[in-house]
Formats: sequence, structure tokens, C-alpha cells
Amino acid sequence: MSQAETHEFQAETQRLLNIIIHSIYTNREIFLRELISNASDALDKVRFEQSRGTEIVEPERDLEIRIDLDKTNRWITVSDTGIGMNKRDIVANLGTIAQSGTEEFLKKVTENNENPDNIIGRFGVGFYSVFMVAEEVVIESRSALPEDKPVKWRSKGMGEYEVEELDQDPGRGTKIHIRIQDGAQEFLEADRLKSIIRNHSNFISFPIYVDGEKVNTVPALWKQSKFQIGQEQYEEFYKFLTYDSQGPLETIHVSVDAPVQFSALLFIPPKTTALHDTYTEDYGLDLYVNRVLIQRQKQEVIPQYLGFLKGVVDSEDLPLNLSRESVQENTLIQKISTTLTKQVLSRLQEMASKRPQDYTTFWREHGKLFKLGYTDFGNRDKFADLLRFNASVHDSAEEITSLQEYVDRMKSGQKEIYYLSGSSREAILSNPHLELLKKKGVEVLFLYEPVDEFVLQAVGSYREYPFKAAEHVNPGDLKDIAAEEQETESEEQPELSQEEDKQLDELLNRMKQHLGDKVTEVRRSQRLSQSPACLVNPDGGMSSQMQKLMHMMQKDDSIPQQILEINPDHSLTRNMLAIHSSNPRDPFLDKATDQLFEAALLQTGYLPDPHSLVTRSFDILADASRWYTQANSAQE
Ligand code: ADP
Ligand code: MG
Repeated sequence: MSQAETHEFQAETQRLLNIIIHSIYTNREIFLRELISNASDALDKVRFEQSRGTEIVEPERDLEIRIDLDKTNRWITVSDTGIGMNKRDIVANLGTIAQSGTEEFLKKVTENNENPDNIIGRFGVGFYSVFMVAEEVVIESRSALPEDKPVKWRSKGMGEYEVEELDQDPGRGTKIHIRIQDGAQEFLEADRLKSIIRNHSNFISFPIYVDGEKVNTVPALWKQSKFQIGQEQYEEFYKFLTYDSQGPLETIHVSVDAPVQFSALLFIPPKTTALHDTYTEDYGLDLYVNRVLIQRQKQEVIPQYLGFLKGVVDSEDLPLNLSRESVQENTLIQKISTTLTKQVLSRLQEMASKRPQDYTTFWREHGKLFKLGYTDFGNRDKFADLLRFNASVHDSAEEITSLQEYVDRMKSGQKEIYYLSGSSREAILSNPHLELLKKKGVEVLFLYEPVDEFVLQAVGSYREYPFKAAEHVNPGDLKDIAAEEQETESEEQPELSQEEDKQLDELLNRMKQHLGDKVTEVRRSQRLSQSPACLVNPDGGMSSQMQKLMHMMQKDDSIPQQILEINPDHSLTRNMLAIHSSNPRDPFLDKATDQLFEAALLQTGYLPDPHSLVTRSFDILADASRWYTQANSAQE
């Protein structure tokens, strides 16, 4: 008999164990879900090895999971006849943390100072969760490979564990003996364990016995005909798969024969599971070959923008004995992905037309990432039909419209679909570039997220109407649109006399001189009705939002040169004109020019430092109030 060696847990593992041991997590029963899922993984692995011809010990042995209770001595034993572990495996697998989910868990607990009790269930802390109920754990394992030696592992979960190789063979697979803590005796009741298994491990494809009685009797749902399956069964399956407490927003059960045979059971969760607005690695469907699990969360079977989907794909056309790498290259997978994508997009379309309320929920929860589908050129039209935007016709930022609805509302003679970007509805509503379209009563889509413009650029047009940024619209572009001019609150100003007109040119020249290289030109605007000034992009190519994004990506913090447009009918312009004609050198003119320019910069999001704008506005307020009191006292 070899000597037991004592090892220390890796630092992170120790940290995780401390969190688990000291947590007051109420849902401790998940430890059993974790152990059963490990056992099931181990059984999948041995079946996989066997199917590809690897020589294994006890090849005739049943693939099963057994749970046995010894109430008197407070032991539970969870045994499987799976792949097992040798000494090196057990040290690597149970002494260190290699798993990204666990790392994410630790990161969340430490960085966000989150209460671990809130997230243990969500992340699942794997094998270590056993220490929520165990005083001591003893593992005996026999690897399926003939040349490996059996091994015994023992730990109390505090700092260290012991390992030793065994001379006596305990039989293929792994036996986990758990000595139950004081206060966790409920887990020594067979009925309690059975109900936990039905809750969490119902669909495990291997039989699970508790004290000799088979507990899980539900087969792989996705392989059954959908006409035999009730809504509750789907819901149960969904909850098992996702640990969600709510049912799914949508269930998609498909069985396809060509161009590749597969069945799939997919769900759209009612809430997004994406952390930080991206699925990173955490998306994909569980891929089975004839009920044998090949890979969990296989990403290649769906495009990333459909990463909100949860579920299972099972194909008999895939060869079982493929290595994971060649599966990845398999064109069959690509065909499954293409077929599933079409199915899901048409299901979404159906949902949008028949259950608009649910589609709105879908859009709110998953829309942000779904928009990344703009790269899927093959499905561009279907994708465009599913897009939603807030728009000028709405009363609040929460409402959404489809492009079809926009087109249905278009004015006669309108040849383009207009949009304007900004950080919020308020920001867009105060954007001077909205004024021209508003005056014509033309609808504008409001884009709040940087990705939105990429989406519209990639989609290009809808029903042959190209998308156009509101800031690139010139007054002449709208001349064919049949629309009564809308009443706006702009003040009526008398026409400029010929003399005043000349004066205005001089004033604009002077403003350009003062601003110098900061602008390419100062000119009169025909687009403005309420604002005194705005900046216009000279090249007309990119919208200011897009340009800003490019600047950010290129780490360029220079301010692009733009055209400053001045509203000749604004009362400020008229007053400046009056000042200019009595004294062209009046310092107020420079102050006002700077203020107009910086305010316009602020509106395009380029103002690097608002301090001078603020200081100048205080100056001007002081001046204004002084003039006001002077004027008042002069009147008395
Ligand atoms: P995960 O299952 O997510 O990898 P766990 O902490 O649950 O994380 O398990 C860690 C590793 O220990 C597993 O990946 C597996 O390699 C090994 N393991 C755990 N239980 C068993 C078992 N019953 N049979 C074989 N290997 C196991
Ligand atoms: Mg596990």
C-alpha cells in the first residue's frame, strides 16, 4: 500500500472553499445536481471512448449513477461507472480551478463585493459545492484506462487534501463518499434526495438510483414528436436546462430531414443572460449525437447574434467518433446552423406579427445583441424586418417601431429613411439637425447605441429606400415631399433688406476670421428654424456619431473641422447684426461667436472641455443682467 500524500489546495481553490463553507446559501441542495452532472459527464466520456474503439476496463458494465445512504453513520455515496480519474487527474481536477465559470464567480464575488449567496446557484460552483453539506469527503476512483491505478482522495475542505494510490480495485468509475455535517441531516432522507434529483437532474440520460430505486424516468424530450409534448414538459425541460425560475418566452422544437438530419429544442429566455452586453464564450447549444453528448454550449451551431437561445441540437448524421476539432470543421455543423438560423428568424417574425407584446419583451431583453446580426448578409431582409427603433412619432423613448411601419407612414414623395443618433431621446430632440425634418413633418428614427449606425449602413436600405443621416439632409432634398409645413415655435422675423443682407455676409466673414482654423466655413443655414447655429460635416460621408466612433477607435482626440451654419432668422443673429452695423469691432460679437461654436460642438459631442463655455455663459449672463437693469432704470 502506498503512503498517503498531503497536498495543499491551490490558492484560488482555497478561496472558493472558504466562500462556500462560510456562505449561508439556502439552496444547498444544488450540491447533488453538481455531483450528478459530473457523474453524467464521466459516463458520457466513457461511452464516447468506447464508441471510438478505445480499450477500457469492464466494457460490459452498465452506465449508471447510484446514490446510497447510510443514515446511522451519516454517509451518502454517489457512484458512477464513468471514465474515472487516476492520481494525476484527481490532483489536477479537484485541487485546482481550471474552469472559467468558477473564475467568473470568484471575480464577481471579489470585484463587485457581491454576496456569494446570490450567485452560487447561478454559476454553480461545481464539485466544491459538496462542502456546503459535507464535513468530510472521501473519493475512490478507478480510471477506465487499463494501465491506470485506482486512487483515493480525502479532504475536510480546509486547506489540504490527501491522495494515495490503492492496491485494491474499487471497480471502474468514481465513488464519492460524503460525511454529512450537523444541520444538513435532511440530505440523509431518501425522499428528499429523490425530489432534488427530479428537480434538477430529471433529463440525465443515464439511470439514477437512490437506494436501488430508479428516480429519473424522463427521456430526451427533443427526440420525441412535438405533438406528444405538453407545454409543462417543455417548461420543465427549459428550467432544468437553464436553472431559470420563469418559463421561456418562446419554445422552438424542430425536426429536420434535409439537407441534414437533426432535431433541436430551443428556447428564448424571458431575460437576457449576457454579462456586460456580450455573450463572450457563454453561448451555444448542447450538441448531441443520437442522445450522446458531444459538447455543451457548442457555439458553431448558431451564429453569435442568436446567442440568446438556450437548448439542444441532436443529429444522427454526425459521426460519433469524430474528435471535437474535426466536428468543428464539419460542414454538417454549418448546415445545421444555417437551417436553424432561418427557422429562428421566421419564428421571431411570426412572434412579432402575432404576439407583439412578447416581441417587445424579446427586443428589450435581447435586441442589443441581436442587432449584431447585421453581419449576416444571407438573411439581410429577414433581419431588417425584425429591427426595431424608437422614432420621432413616439411619445417616449420606450416605444418602438419596425421599418415596415415607418415605410407605411412615409410622406408621399419621400425617398429616404431618416435617422439621427444621440445618447438619449432628449439629446436628439434638442439636436438642431432635427429641425428641418420636423418642420416638414417627416419621421426620423432615433438611434441611441453606437452599433445602430453600423446596422443601418450594413443593411443599406429597406424596401429600396436608402437610410440617410438627418445631418446630411439639405433643404433641397426634401422639395418633392408633399407635406404641409408644420407650425413651429420659431419667431417670425422680417425679411432682410439688401443692405442687411450685405451686412450679414460681413458678419459671417468676421465670425470665420475669429474662429480661424476651427471651422472650414461659416455660412447661412437653411435648415434651422429654432436653433441659432449648428455644425455640418463638409464631406457628407459619415455622420458625426460615426465619425466620433472612428476617432475613438483610432484614439484620435482632435476635433474635426466642420462648417458652422448660422440661422439668419434667429433673434440672436438679428441682434448681432445690429451690433455689427453700429460697431463691427464690438467684443460681444467675438464672445457670442465662441459661444455659438462651442455650444454646437457640445451638441455634436466633440467639446473636449466645457469650462470655457460655462465661464463665458456666466460672463454673458452678468452682461445681460446689467443691461437689463440699466434698461429698466432708464425706462423709469
Ligand atoms: P466542471 O464539472 O465544470 O469541470 P467540477 O468542479 O464540477 O467542474 O469538476 C471538476 C473536474 O473534476 C471535472 O471537470 C472532471 O474532470 C473531474 N470530475 C469531477 N467529478 C468526476 C467524476 N465523477 N468522474 C470523473 N471525473 C470527475
Ligand atoms: Mg461539474
